[in-house]
Amino acid sequence: MTTMVETPVAPSLPAGLLIGDAWRPSGDGSTFAVDNPATGDVLAEIADATADDALAAIRAAADAQPALAATTPAWRARLLRRVESELRSRVEEFALLITLEMGKPLAEARGEVAYAADFFGWFADEALRVSGDYRTAPNGASRILVKHRGVGPCLLVTPWNFPLAMGARKIAPALAAGCPSVLKPAEQTPLTSLLLAQVIEDAGAPAGAVNVLTTTRPAEIVTAVIESGLARKLSFTGSTSVGKLLLAQCAPYVMRTSMELGGNAPFVVFADADLDAAVDGALLAKMRNMGEACTAANRFLVAEEVAEEFTAAFAARMAALRVGPGWVDGSDVGPLIDDDGAQKVHRLLEDAVSRGARVETGGERLAGRFVQPTVVSGIADGSALLTEEIFGPLAPIATFASEAEAVARANDTAYGLVSYVYTRDLDRGLRMIDELASGMVGVNLGVVSNAAAPFGGTKESGLGREGGFEGIHEYLDTTYAALRA
Ligand code: NAD
Repeated sequence: MTTMVETPVAPSLPAGLLIGDAWRPSGDGSTFAVDNPATGDVLAEIADATADDALAAIRAAADAQPALAATTPAWRARLLRRVESELRSRVEEFALLITLEMGKPLAEARGEVAYAADFFGWFADEALRVSGDYRTAPNGASRILVKHRGVGPCLLVTPWNFPLAMGARKIAPALAAGCPSVLKPAEQTPLTSLLLAQVIEDAGAPAGAVNVLTTTRPAEIVTAVIESGLARKLSFTGSTSVGKLLLAQCAPYVMRTSMELGGNAPFVVFADADLDAAVDGALLAKMRNMGEACTAANRFLVAEEVAEEFTAAFAARMAALRVGPGWVDGSDVGPLIDDDGAQKVHRLLEDAVSRGARVETGGERLAGRFVQPTVVSGIADGSALLTEEIFGPLAPIATFASEAEAVARANDTAYGLVSYVYTRDLDRGLRMIDELASGMVGVNLGVVSNAAAPFGGTKESGLGREGGFEGIHEYLDTTYAALRA
């Protein structure tokens, strides 16, 4: 572990709920503490929204809808550009806040700020490019005019692992499409959303365009908004189990939904791969965010011929990573978000070892929520870490004997968010894109996230896409007019 140095002071923040044009306390005056996962110390005490606050917020969004929808695309693009530029100029302030409330190292937090800013920039341009079309009916009897317009007030629910980027990926396309929203960030990391909302407000967003509800009562708040009947769309990022619950809750209202859910990414290394590049990619795909990413490599599948070499090189790199608080210079691996997260990783490791897995590096218990980067090999079928999301710095390596076996094992999961493949054979790389059952495939790359790309999953990893040309359409309805020829 790197040595503890004094905890930096958190940037100053609004502590209330943003509802319409005002920051206010919660309706019943209650508050909750947000802690620093590296120390367990309280970072801030903020408003704990009630169901009545949730109703007030979705009403404020509904009231803002007509005026926001009437703004021009150019006006919305300028608003988004101002937010982008503010995020880029305040990268240190946002990065420190992300590190303090979520735990990731500062360098990664800076990367998250840049990634979040990219979404405001990307959707500033997309606001200008929402096109319709004009066709002739096949029988020549009518003309077909197709246009798109904002879906209406949106409910945006985000997880704790990317406190800024997950909100940015939703708010930016919603605003670009002229849709007001209610953002409900995760209770573990709500502070960054408060700072973001303040930036959006200061950039000139109209009252009610973005509302923020921090709360320890997510089910009550989300239910109140859905059952108000005022929200036309839910965009959710989080676990598959909660996503399924929310899909069922939205069904009676036939609400549009986007679901960015859990993953169980395979990382496949073929014998013809550039092994140095594969080890670099493995480190990124496994260790970004301490492994607490939906895109984290959950299962390493390595060709038998190169398994020993890959495992030794990867384990050496994992062993060299320094564990410590994210703000300390030289820390590569911060704490996990909470005690449950750390205990889950230890439980999965013990289960694998009890079934015969070999610890290649790591495996010792550290203090608090810190977990040692760990590599295990010789994983037996039936081990829980092959089917559950690990969400921590634990890398299981299994081997395969043929391409067909690699594909079958990679696809043997209920999830389908992302797969990674390392090969020097172009034909094989293209074949893998066809055969791997996931919404995204990294070919000789350990990170796929990009504001210009359609991020999202298949199977139980979700519905809909964020980013790319597709992203804004999650917030647009289609209207078609029939015109007499
Ligand atoms: P979570 O499902 O526990 O919580 C996500 C959000 O839902 C939080 O805001 C939480 O307060 C809220 N929530 C929890 N229970 C709820 C309920 N009953 N009703 C309404 N809202 C509720 O997930 P998490 O632990 O915050 O995040 C980790 C999960 O998110 C992992 O499964 C990860 O893979 C997934 N994730 C997916 C993506 C993606 O883009 N696919 C990105 C990041 C994280």
